[in-house]
Amino acid sequence: MNNLFSLTLLLFISSFFCVQAQDVMLIEKNDHTTIEVKVSDISQITFHTIYLTCPDSNHPHVIDLGLPSGTKWSCCNVGADSPDENGNYYAWGETEVKSAYVANNYVYSHWTENSYGIPVQIFDDIGDEIAGTQYDAARANWGGSWRMPSLQQFKELMECCTYTPTTQLGTKGFLLTGPNGATIFLPSAGYRFAMETYSGCRYWSSTLDQEKNNAYRLNIYNQNWDCDSNKRYYGLPVRPVCP
Ligand SMILES: [Zn+2]
Repeated sequence: MNNLFSLTLLLFISSFFCVQAQDVMLIEKNDHTTIEVKVSDISQITFHTIYLTCPDSNHPHVIDLGLPSGTKWSCCNVGADSPDENGNYYAWGETEVKSAYVANNYVYSHWTENSYGIPVQIFDDIGDEIAGTQYDAARANWGGSWRMPSLQQFKELMECCTYTPTTQLGTKGFLLTGPNGATIFLPSAGYRFAMETYSGCRYWSSTLDQEKNNAYRLNIYNQNWDCDSNKRYYGLPVRPVCP
């Protein structure tokens, strides 16, 4: 009886440890401290070289502005070959460019009729945060760990950086300087509505404005900058971040 009890106890203990088993990735640093991460928590592993300024013309580069969150910013926009180019315009959640940006051709909506028979556009729920998802224009076009910046990451940029209106290689825009002195240039690429391109310096965030069914954007003007809400079907440029 004692043996049976012992065997049962042994099986119970071993099954307990089996259930508790988990795979971890161990990274040993040069100072011999170790970072341990559960493999089940890892979605992908990417390697980047981080710069304070573009070292060559092989853009995009990962720029470290010295931000508290550790967020790194790209040196250029999605679709741009260099920091002074405007790059592409995307409707929020879409990952391909198009010739016209209007409510009618916005991919993530559908139309219904209200009780008066008037057409009403319903915006599809593609998530409150699309960074890193299939709806992220930075991830879809650049891959790796690139993603659209969140509203929070834009707010950090505004809190921690200074900006100067400037012209770079003939392109008007703003030079943002981080706490460590590193800089990125944001062209005033404007935005697209219907088939026109309008002036301004606006950039999509990955964050939905639930109240208005819009999404948040960064706005930079000569005298100030802020984050507000923009209709999802407008075409805006995207400046990617690394997490
Ligand atoms: Zn660069």
